[in-house]
Amino acid sequence: MTISKKCLSERIIAFESAVRAGQLKMTDQRRAVYRAVAAVETHPTAEAVWRAVRRRQPDVSFATVYRNLGQLRDLGLILELRPKDGQVRFDANCGTHGHLVNLKTGAIRDVPLIGRPPRPRGIRTADIRHTVVIFYVAGE
Ligand SMILES: [Zn+2]
Repeated sequence: MTISKKCLSERIIAFESAVRAGQLKMTDQRRAVYRAVAAVETHPTAEAVWRAVRRRQPDVSFATVYRNLGQLRDLGLILELRPKDGQVRFDANCGTHGHLVNLKTGAIRDVPLIGRPPRPRGIRTADIRHTVVIFYVAGE
């Protein structure tokens, strides 16, 4: 499932803003990797991102895509999720939200979260990340 053009546009603006702030060098491949994650709500695997990027850049290697995913994750521009053993999925929705994970199909959906977790003494709010994962089994 793809996201709205408005939401994708907002994500791309935030991404390009981070680039302009000097946090990382812009390359066509990095932009394509970010766009492949940001354009969908499916929380794609690295392989799914690679397939999406190869539609426009057929020569891009899996290693390049995977390295860029790691760099974007390290900069906080995407989230890395491990909803099940051995699975790694990526998410451009960096706002506070939880995940509904269908253990039967592997589908992941965002769910809104209200409020913030308690902040331990001496830790800045900006340094806290949390997620809630709700597992269920349904469908084919
Ligand atoms: Zn998400």
